[in-house]
Amino acid sequence: MAGETHLWIDGDWEAGERLVPLKNPYSQDVIAQIGYASPAQAERAIAVAARAARSFRQVPAWQRAAILRKVADLISDRKDELVDTIAREAAKPVKAARQEIDRTVETYRFAAEAARTIHGETVPMDAAPRGEHHVGFTMWQPLGVVVAITPFNFPMNLVAHKVGPAIAAGNAIVLKPAEQTPLSALVLGHIFADAGLPKGVLNIIPGDGKELSEVLTTHPDVAYVTFTGSPSVGRQIRAQAGLRRVTLELGSNSPLIVDEGFSEQELGKIASEIVSGAFAYSGQVCISIQRVYIHDAVFDDLVERIVAGAKALRFGDPIDEATDVSALINEQAGKRLAGWLDEAKAAGAKILCGGDIDGNRMQPTVVTGVPADAKLVTEEAFGPVVVVERISSWEVGVELANRSKFGLNAGVFTKRIDRALAAVETLQAGAVLVNQVPTYRLDHMPYGGVKESGVGREGVVYAMYDMMERKLAAFRTK
Ligand code: NAD
Repeated sequence: MAGETHLWIDGDWEAGERLVPLKNPYSQDVIAQIGYASPAQAERAIAVAARAARSFRQVPAWQRAAILRKVADLISDRKDELVDTIAREAAKPVKAARQEIDRTVETYRFAAEAARTIHGETVPMDAAPRGEHHVGFTMWQPLGVVVAITPFNFPMNLVAHKVGPAIAAGNAIVLKPAEQTPLSALVLGHIFADAGLPKGVLNIIPGDGKELSEVLTTHPDVAYVTFTGSPSVGRQIRAQAGLRRVTLELGSNSPLIVDEGFSEQELGKIASEIVSGAFAYSGQVCISIQRVYIHDAVFDDLVERIVAGAKALRFGDPIDEATDVSALINEQAGKRLAGWLDEAKAAGAKILCGGDIDGNRMQPTVVTGVPADAKLVTEEAFGPVVVVERISSWEVGVELANRSKFGLNAGVFTKRIDRALAAVETLQAGAVLVNQVPTYRLDHMPYGGVKESGVGREGVVYAMYDMMERKLAAFRTK
């Protein structure tokens, strides 16, 4: 019998308004009954956070850092259990879940370090004639209540990217984890309590995003909404949030351009990096490689290797050590991808491997000859599919890469510094990775998108400063 979970509010468990079964997407077994928050309970969580924020802002930076360091240690101690939880709730293969926990530990450690580096600046008041005999400096103050709304695909590390910086900055938080992955988020309640976080500073309320949307984004006590998820929800949150600060980390259809001039051995390495960048966690990664533009001179060789690599991936149970790819998060994702593949095939695309979809099970798929206006190219696939296209010149690759409404990470492989620099200059993206796949992310890098990929930047220190207000102190000295 699957256990019941509750809401974590004010340092204690509170029963949700109703129970909703949570299924393992691979086995379809019910693994827990999740207590969902009602809008009234979300309101209470915000009130609790607002009260806790008033005292937490007095807690000094060294103590906030110590709490975050302890959280990192406790997560590390419980690694095996958390890997298992993520594998079951997200159908994330244990190999990938283990990496996620390692990154989560690192993210909280970066947050602990960041907490002790918050500093303002002196303002050269006498740069203006009226500023003579004045001294000015800035200081940073926490915003108060941060609402964090997170997606299913990195259920611990993307939570860490919001909770870590919020606590480093001295804020209180209401966390609304994704419906599909609440279990790993709920574990944090006790972990933070054991690490010494005062009651009410972190509140975790699983629930239906649509039902809780209005309270979480319009309540007057909410100072800041930080959201990671799909562009359509991001747009709605921004429309609702009014003048309050928001950060939106949204989707993409990440491009990669591969230049001519690589040796056989180099192409082998690039191909294996493309295979993991496109198919890790079945492509359910916001910076998963979706479009690869490959120079004519190396196209056939590289594509042959990509296809061989994709075919060698093992599909299976996420808790099996040998599994590379597992089930998609739900059947709806399978249906959507099947429709897009059909559309591309009808328009003349050729499937080089994979292509079979059964419910939420999809084999790694490589496609070519996809028209530029097909959804497989223009929308975010968020599945195990990569489009590979031949380009006659570098410039064409850059042009095609930019022909997207998204712009999160973009990658290029080239031996020519002039082309690399031109790509950095002209690719419309939050980051351009040179001789690296766009799926590359370190947790302290500034990270975020342009165009429909979002607003603002995460990466611990950047998120932390976004969660504070810069205040000026100006003194007349004479
Ligand atoms: P989603 O938008 O469906 O859900 C994300 C969260 O929003 C969930 O907690 C959900 O309950 C909540 N939500 C849903 N409707 C809401 C509403 N009307 N108001 C407020 N909250 C609402 O996204 P998902 O399917 O969980 O995640 C996949 C998406 O996330 C992809 O588009 C992916 O690219 C994106 N993503 C982006 C990044 C990034 O850093 N840029 C990282 C990971 C995932």
